[in-house]
Amino acid sequence: MPELPDVEVFRRYINEHALKQKISDVTVNNTGILKNTSVSNMKKALKGKVFSRTSRRGKYCFLETNGEDTVVLHFGMTGNIKYHENGTPLDDHERVRFHFENGNILSFVNVRLLGEVRLIKDKDSFVTSKQIGSDALQLSYNQFRQLLQRRSSMVKSMLMNQNLLSGIGNVYADEILYQSRIHPKKNVKDLTESQVKKLYTMMKKVTETAIKKNVDAGKFPHSYITHRREEGEKCPSCGGTLEKIKVSGRPTYFCPKCQEE
Ligand SMILES: [Zn+2]
Repeated sequence: MPELPDVEVFRRYINEHALKQKISDVTVNNTGILKNTSVSNMKKALKGKVFSRTSRRGKYCFLETNGEDTVVLHFGMTGNIKYHENGTPLDDHERVRFHFENGNILSFVNVRLLGEVRLIKDKDSFVTSKQIGSDALQLSYNQFRQLLQRRSSMVKSMLMNQNLLSGIGNVYADEILYQSRIHPKKNVKDLTESQVKKLYTMMKKVTETAIKKNVDAGKFPHSYITHRREEGEKCPSCGGTLEKIKVSGRPTYFCPKCQEE
């Protein structure tokens, strides 16, 4: 499932390939993906415009135009972005295609149709209405500490609470907790000051490392567990067996020796 690092990689890819090109058309092969807008609205708002800049908050990617509208992409459980040179045939899972005057196409790919494409006028009011928490990569240490104050929930659930802190999902939450040597079920109120500091440092480090490695888990450091999410895999630090449990209904991998409860 695309999390902050994945969406950041998509955003940079869009920047690299699809900015400042005049949009000639928008085609949609499954309107279920459109939220609060229609194909004709999309065409009306985007034809003749260009994507001028992009931004991201948590798992949401914003494509601002030189007009009044901003396209918002959310990838759901599976999703991808593809920039095609002219003439590439449509793949069934390309739900929305932005066609450019130069003949190239930017595609929003979404297999399970759990993603969303929207058109908004104002990013700030969208963020407020959706209660999207502070972006995990942009948060300062003091802001992070304040978020944790007076909270009483399992630390993994807190990391994944998108209204509090946006961008971290199931897989990266496990990696951040493993790197911090904190048990995923530990209550936030029982974290020591040094554990909170470690958690913040690792949240930044893990997300930045994943972005730098183009979210290719095979290229992550040997000391990571993201590419070891399978029964019987060993902890790269102590050699013990990683355990799989459920936290808030989500499959969770951790090392019972390195991350004591
Ligand atoms: Zn271990």
